[in-house]
Amino acid sequence: MSTLAISVKDLSKKYGNRMAVSHASFEVPLGTVCGFVGPNGSGKTTTMRMLLGLITPTAGSGTILGEPINHPERYLHRVGAMIEGPAFYPALTGAENLRVLATLGGHDINSVQSLLDRVGLGDRGGSKYKTYSLGMKQRLGIAAALLPNPHLLMLDEPTNGLDPAGIQEIRELLRSLATQGTTVFISSHLLSEIEMISDSLVMLRKGKVIFAGKTQDLLERQQPTIIAKCENPEDIGKLLAIAESSGHKGSEIDGVAHILAAAEWAPTLNKLAFDSGITLSQISPVLPSLEETFFEMTGDDE
Ligand code: ATP
Repeated sequence: MSTLAISVKDLSKKYGNRMAVSHASFEVPLGTVCGFVGPNGSGKTTTMRMLLGLITPTAGSGTILGEPINHPERYLHRVGAMIEGPAFYPALTGAENLRVLATLGGHDINSVQSLLDRVGLGDRGGSKYKTYSLGMKQRLGIAAALLPNPHLLMLDEPTNGLDPAGIQEIRELLRSLATQGTTVFISSHLLSEIEMISDSLVMLRKGKVIFAGKTQDLLERQQPTIIAKCENPEDIGKLLAIAESSGHKGSEIDGVAHILAAAEWAPTLNKLAFDSGITLSQISPVLPSLEETFFEMTGDDE
């Protein structure tokens, strides 16, 4: 049996003359959380729709849970999905909505309460959907996606519009699902919202995969930086030259020196600057975010 939940090769979708997704290739191992990240319009939803057999790819191939994507009937019963926001009846309760979906989908109606418990809505299943907060609506959407007891869960922007506490709740829920063996493929336009729960990342930009790999690999490319400000702004060039002669590259950004070096080197830099007659008014070590690291790697800062 394949150890991959998702595997796609050269997957493409063309709308008119425009490639919404272009030669996307990536893999998602079973039992992991994979973050699918890219700005709005980069092709995340289009890719998910192709993976779910909702639209036909223009080119390329792929497998979901070991079955080819041109035969979605072979794998869809093992896949749960929430694409473009959940749709529920406002006047029905959360539990009633799930029961309707369970009946329509031929799933076990008796699983409704345990699903509500699992997504943290155990004591709110009797409240009308229209009274739910955005976070509760998203969690009910995830409960609906879990109805078929899926091996693979695909969620399109489940944290969209949530406050930090709501995002945190969804993160914990998804992590616990992965621990129980469900593979989670989750899209977001903000890497920072999902980087800490994602074992791997697929990054999309203008329809193309620009990074596919372990989150850890991206973390390892994070370059610690020392930010230093000279009391006399004219000294900044000299400071950068001092850093460079010690093997630390740097650049000036908005009148401040950004020097690639570990925090431990900061006292040495301070002393070298002082010995050259430069007074530093600020010296602080920072670790860039994964987003910044990524833009650094690709030279893209759109
Ligand atoms: P968002 O988060 O805003 O939904 P996304 O990353 O999911 O963004 P897609 O919705 O997949 O991006 O859209 C990718 C590109 O394909 C966009 O330029 C979009 O306008 C275009 N597109 C999507 N669906 C269609 C369609 N049915 N017909 C024509 N163009 C489409």
